[in-house]
Amino acid sequence: MSDTTAPVTLTYTPVEEIEVIRDQVRKGFYSGKLKSIEYRKYQLAQLGYAIQDNLDKFRDAFKLDLGRNPLETDFMELGTVLKEIKEAHDKVAEWSRSEKPPFALEFVAMRPVIRKEPKGTVLIIAPFNYPVALSVGPLAGAIAAGNTAVLKISEQTPAVSALVTEVIHKYLDSDVVRVVNGAVAETTKVLELQWDHILYTGGERVGRIVAMAAAKHTTPVSLELGGKSPLIVDPKTDLQTAARRILWGKGVNAGQTCVAPDYILVPRDSQAKLVEALQAAHAQLWPNPLTSSTFSHLVSEAAFDRVHSIISTTTGTVVIGGLPTASKADKFIPLTVVKDVKGDDSLMRDELFGPVLPIVPVDSIEDAVKFVNERPHPLALYVFSNDQGVKDKVANGTQSGAICFNETVIHSGVYGLPFGGTGNSGYGYHTGKYSFDMFTHLRASMDQHGWIDMMIGARFPPYTEQKRAKVASLVFPSLPARPKGPPGGK
Ligand code: NAD
Repeated sequence: MSDTTAPVTLTYTPVEEIEVIRDQVRKGFYSGKLKSIEYRKYQLAQLGYAIQDNLDKFRDAFKLDLGRNPLETDFMELGTVLKEIKEAHDKVAEWSRSEKPPFALEFVAMRPVIRKEPKGTVLIIAPFNYPVALSVGPLAGAIAAGNTAVLKISEQTPAVSALVTEVIHKYLDSDVVRVVNGAVAETTKVLELQWDHILYTGGERVGRIVAMAAAKHTTPVSLELGGKSPLIVDPKTDLQTAARRILWGKGVNAGQTCVAPDYILVPRDSQAKLVEALQAAHAQLWPNPLTSSTFSHLVSEAAFDRVHSIISTTTGTVVIGGLPTASKADKFIPLTVVKDVKGDDSLMRDELFGPVLPIVPVDSIEDAVKFVNERPHPLALYVFSNDQGVKDKVANGTQSGAICFNETVIHSGVYGLPFGGTGNSGYGYHTGKYSFDMFTHLRASMDQHGWIDMMIGARFPPYTEQKRAKVASLVFPSLPARPKGPPGGK
């Protein structure tokens, strides 16, 4: 790895070029190149090597933009994205194959088929926190599905975004994918244009802007948003293991992870035991005091000011970390845990998106469930418990994008699981085959025989009572037996 620490200036795409870029990738779509599965595989392999040939440069860029340790970059970003590209490459032929609908005697002769077709030219807007995983990852699904794409990546990570731009433009066909850089003015221009699907990952406020812009063109949208992901601790769990996993999930990328546990709910009489376990785990994970060279930093001074301000105005008690060692010059705030936080505290208003973890004492697990249900549906909900009854109570009594027991954060990388929110945390699913499906249109198709009118010729006018009776005998199903009342007699 090089030891470069010089800031990188990101060149913004001139606003007047944005439509030209969109038109080029649209032309690329109509060129039909990506009809060929072999060409899709070639582009996916190129995408893989665009990352793999530049791993050290990416590690350096993440260090520069977010102060991230290369281990975190490999685990949370580069490894994940390479796996996603490889899966898309290896599975593209299988995923793209037309499917037959379930067998139905009366329709089989019509040769019904579901064709997997690309939506067209798609837009992927990505946030700063995992700027490669959240742009290049879904891009793999878009290309596998046969789409051309424009990526709008974050202006807040200039080193990473400059590198993504460079490698995409170097390794991939410019008729297939182009990158647009910029901030609000450039994104606003991008959103004025017509797309065939938009995937937006980022905050809720901008998500609404994106959805409204898409509505003008009736463009389908997937919104991958954030929010406050709660974590419920059942005191009967193994608190040491729980504490280690909780602190890791919060500490990774300095809490700037959409599925980071946002706050802990724990029965009041067990808060002290949990704090002790968290303090012991913290000492084990970070034996030396945290500094900006051993812990990721916030993305910008504005982010530092926001997190600093909500910690300094909490009425809770800091039990780990705190502001004395925070440094605005380094955009650094150490991992901070605050106990005795109330539901209306400064730490409980918005998504924290920083290295601070409030503990909110509640009366019981039932009270915790009520607390979660009084707030918008979160992207993730975590439960630490070995009691199946507690797990069922929380799972059956709440709604969230994902629910994970005895682990934090890593469900987003588990093979085969969909990733997506519900309610305020967004809609749509991605990663793996779900990304392919997001960018695929299921085109219904049939190929009718001439002789079929012997069977369904009664549909044609002139209508008669005899024909109506024949049609009725074909189309009306026989319903299940009429119920005698609700189940259980209630
Ligand atoms: P953001 O919404 O500020 O920015 C995301 C993108 O939107 C960037 O490319 C940015 O340039 C663009 N943008 C910003 N302001 C805009 C405007 N006014 N008009 C048009 N475009 C605009 O998000 P962020 O700060 O980069 O990321 C943090 C948020 O993303 C958090 O809320 C986090 O939870 C969420 N997130 C969600 C997921 C998920 O998969 N659900 C993943 C990562 C992050």
